[in-house]
Amino acid sequence: MWRSRKSRDRRTVVCIACGESLLREDAREYDKEGNRWDRRDKEFEFLCTSCDDELCHQPREGLESLLVSIESDELSRAEFIDRYADAVGAGGSTERSERD
Ligand SMILES: [Zn+2]
Repeated sequence: MWRSRKSRDRRTVVCIACGESLLREDAREYDKEGNRWDRRDKEFEFLCTSCDDELCHQPREGLESLLVSIESDELSRAEFIDRYADAVGAGGSTERSERD
């Protein structure tokens, strides 16, 4: 289906984390419901690879259900991010990259 041999997917998508535009084929799909394999009636969101890499440093347990639980239709993106920050307890100063 989406495995067309001659035409690659040249559409552009926007990373939901940093807002960067990138080719869809270079983006990582992000399914907030945590089930990328069920593709029916779904719209995926996308992350660029660097944001996706950063995500992997975070504990993933319960993340999708958390996101689904705080999401609601009338929520603006900023409000959503606010709620998310509350829910994960962000704002502390323990957030240090452990790279290198
Ligand atoms: Zn990004």
